[in-house]
Amino acid sequence: MDLHNGSLFWPTTAAETFHERKKLPIDDHYDVLIIGGGMSGALCAYTLLQENLKIALVDKRVMATGSSSANTGLLQFSNDIMLFELIEQIGEEKAVRFYKLCQSAIGQLENIANTAAKDSDFIRRKSICFASTDEDIKKVQKEYAVLKKHGFPVSYWTEEDMKQHLPFSKPAALITHGDAEVNPFTFVRGILDYVEHKGGHLFENAEVTNVTEKKDHVSIETSIGTFHASQIIYAIGYETPPIGEKIGADINRSYAIATQPIDDLSEWEGRSLIWETKRPYLYMRTTADGRIIAGGLDEDEPEAPQSEDWINNRAHRLKQEIEKLFPMMDIQIAYAWGASFGESLDNLPFIGKHPDKKRQYYLLGYGGNGTVYSMLGSHILKDLILQRPNPDAEIVKLDR
Ligand SMILES: Cc1cc2nc3c(=O)[nH]c(=O)nc-3n(C[C@H](O)[C@H](O)[C@H](O)COP(=O)(O)OP(=O)(O)OC[C@H]3O[C@@H](n4cnc5c(N)ncnc54)[C@H](O)[C@@H]3O)c2cc1C
Repeated sequence: MDLHNGSLFWPTTAAETFHERKKLPIDDHYDVLIIGGGMSGALCAYTLLQENLKIALVDKRVMATGSSSANTGLLQFSNDIMLFELIEQIGEEKAVRFYKLCQSAIGQLENIANTAAKDSDFIRRKSICFASTDEDIKKVQKEYAVLKKHGFPVSYWTEEDMKQHLPFSKPAALITHGDAEVNPFTFVRGILDYVEHKGGHLFENAEVTNVTEKKDHVSIETSIGTFHASQIIYAIGYETPPIGEKIGADINRSYAIATQPIDDLSEWEGRSLIWETKRPYLYMRTTADGRIIAGGLDEDEPEAPQSEDWINNRAHRLKQEIEKLFPMMDIQIAYAWGASFGESLDNLPFIGKHPDKKRQYYLLGYGGNGTVYSMLGSHILKDLILQRPNPDAEIVKLDR
């Protein structure tokens, strides 16, 4: 399955995109084998290494070249499902706890960026989520009130406030503070290099073809040989339908562009992350080298688009959306891509132990906040694997 097509921006920012990893012999036994070397697998490996576990990471591709290289790199504590909606869905305690976990995950990602992935342009930003229509003003007000009540750093802007801060105006906006942007490709690559340096075993171009649970271990057949591990984690992204069948998931596709660097971004208040209340939404951010990245126009098709003309057509529409907000900027498309994109039907990720298997775990960060889910999920799985209590696991478990 092609996870993405078109021209990706992030891989062009890395010095040696496809440097060969050291070829290692397969050890007799690993504590944990992680299938998938994207954002989820890399963060799991990082988190488990802190516990001195012996880790193997296997990927059928070159690592970091799956969906994680198509990621637009917005990190937010707000989710596709607003907090007040999540409260209606799962109750106040769990919903607020989930939002708090997302907020903490941004701090954990920042720590990793400062230590293991220093070239990842992690920058704290505020987010501006504007009401797409007058009807959505109430929604923004309700969300503002509930976030404020639970101590999240938020502000509310009226239409007048917006005019003072930005060259465009919308009926209202919710401002969340303490979000961030990152270059997801160099971030994952940095973590993988760190994991390798700290003794994790990385195997690229190694497809897992069969997994069998034995009495005291798991046997994992791959295209390069058989591995044995005490536990395994599936961090396989959007390619295989999740086992959370009770809940279900949709694989759709989405589009993004990166522009040529813009001469003057001073009209872009705080270089904020900009998105909206409409679903699916349009969103934009800037990059460390002064580009604009915009994404959206989701379509109900599971496969990444094949046609270059189709991708270019969507890219042009994204460019027009930027021009509507920032008409003074000269927008030239430099990169345009389309990619598969997974969302669970209840807007929560799938993280946890397989309900019927003893030694198999999943980390599937479905949803627009996938990176934040990968981070918080790596901590939940660490606890489950080490048999430590983790009450948060209940919120995202596979058979919820
Ligand atoms: C256009 C777009 C924009 C996005 N924007 C954002 C954003 O702004 N912020 C955000 O947080 N998230 C965003 N996301 C989501 C984010 O990209 C995902 O959450 C993230 O990439 C998921 O990482 P992963 O490791 O689960 O998947 P991947 O990066 O796809 O890694 C999974 C790996 O598993 C490997 N694999 C699968 N099956 C096997 C097998 N049988 N054997 C061996 N290896 C296997 C694959 O080769 C792949 O490398 C966006 C996604 C898209 C498509």
